[in-house]
Amino acid sequence: MLEHLRTEIESFTTEISREYYLQGAGLKESIDIKSFYEKYPSVKDRNNIELIKAESERSTEDPEKTKQLRYLLENTYREITSFEQSPITEKVLEAEFTGKIKYGEKEYFYRSIINEIINTSDRTIRETLNDIKNKFIENNLNPLLSESFKLGHLITKEFGFENLTEMFINISSINLHDLNKEAGEFLKYSEDIYYDLLKYYSKKILESDIPELKKHDLMYMMKYNKFDRYFPGNEMFTTIDKFVSGMGIDIGSKGRIKPDIEKRNQKSPRAFCSPVRIPEEIYLVINPRGGEDDYTTFLHELGHSLHFSHINPDLCFEYKYCGDNSVTEGFAMLFDHLIANRIWLQKIMKMDNKGINDFLLFKTFRELSMLRRYSAKLDYELKFYEDETTENRKAEYKDILSKAVKAEYTESEYLTDIDDYFYVARYLRAWMFQHSLSEYLIENFGEDWFINSASGSFLRHIWSYGQKYDANELLKLNNCSELSLKALFNHLNNQAKYV
Ligand SMILES: [Zn+2]
Repeated sequence: MLEHLRTEIESFTTEISREYYLQGAGLKESIDIKSFYEKYPSVKDRNNIELIKAESERSTEDPEKTKQLRYLLENTYREITSFEQSPITEKVLEAEFTGKIKYGEKEYFYRSIINEIINTSDRTIRETLNDIKNKFIENNLNPLLSESFKLGHLITKEFGFENLTEMFINISSINLHDLNKEAGEFLKYSEDIYYDLLKYYSKKILESDIPELKKHDLMYMMKYNKFDRYFPGNEMFTTIDKFVSGMGIDIGSKGRIKPDIEKRNQKSPRAFCSPVRIPEEIYLVINPRGGEDDYTTFLHELGHSLHFSHINPDLCFEYKYCGDNSVTEGFAMLFDHLIANRIWLQKIMKMDNKGINDFLLFKTFRELSMLRRYSAKLDYELKFYEDETTENRKAEYKDILSKAVKAEYTESEYLTDIDDYFYVARYLRAWMFQHSLSEYLIENFGEDWFINSASGSFLRHIWSYGQKYDANELLKLNNCSELSLKALFNHLNNQAKYV
């Protein structure tokens, strides 16, 4: 019975992921999500919950099987919820895809407006564009999202959980409250250095003082393009290909990775990797904006793609497609953090020391800002799921986020800024994971591990596990240090001091 479920889920996941890839890539307007659930009815069959639970009861002596069933149960809960929400999700995707924003004589696609905002140097125009974008969100997306979250909350209760937080902790065994506490402490001890760097860069880039800063100003600052000359777009692929080959790794995984890096207006502004068929068919999608940002994004999605395309094909569905996404995000971050690695910048990008010092200081500022944003997001999302009255959360969103990043957020994005199913926690854990793993790689394979074939073999080996182990288990298995925000902060603090 469960074998049938597994077979159906795997085919379903492949087919729907392909649709999401096409939609996200701007190649398809809408997705008929419901039709896929109709084709594979087991995926959304609530009877499976009891079947999986009963099988778990019978397997308490077998930790391997228990874990596999725990992943399957989590996937089943999530698919049932997604199915029930799918009529709303289809409308959201369509609104995002077809949405247009008018500014004077100009008209932008909703999906390309963010790129426009972060590339606009005139502060007044930037603010106006942002206001128009927010109105679009309030009128076209928030009513749908609010309905979707309420429905999600109801379904979670039907599963027997108080709310999504309880469900997540119960199944994933990741304690979100402990993580939130650690993130809260991080916000405290990183405050002074972040404030100094923010002050320094807002003077330098915006010629403005901190009290007036808005979120879109901060986003503009993050896109600071002074360093872009070190990162020429036309050399990106060959540069990255060269060092990856130095690790004995084929950048395209022998054709299993399919890169989609051309510019398209209706392509999602957020890059993504779509593991349609693991390990054979993996899409790597970025919408290039130019400069350093493209290198970072490409490296991130490459990290995912290499992970997925090296997973042992004989593993069960659960270990290939489910489990702790902090692991795949951690591998993605291991690659994108090379861009803040002094030795990598010297050896691969051939940057001069002065350039590296300036660049690393800026990267420290950006990293702290992002980490503070994610720490605050976790706190907000935990509050958000406490009850279903989403309306009450607007002011809280603005308050928590603005305080953490020290730039004023608006209330409009209080729903669009929520990552699905506490993905924010996976990101925070991935940040710590990449730090521990990179320390390990330096210690065992040298500070230029990224051109060492022995480190390539090691990575290929740990990629092959898929997500059989969660982030902590995988680190422990390989004698790496455990997840710690404090260790990550110390590294960033040293990086800022050193330059
Ligand atoms: Zn990612």
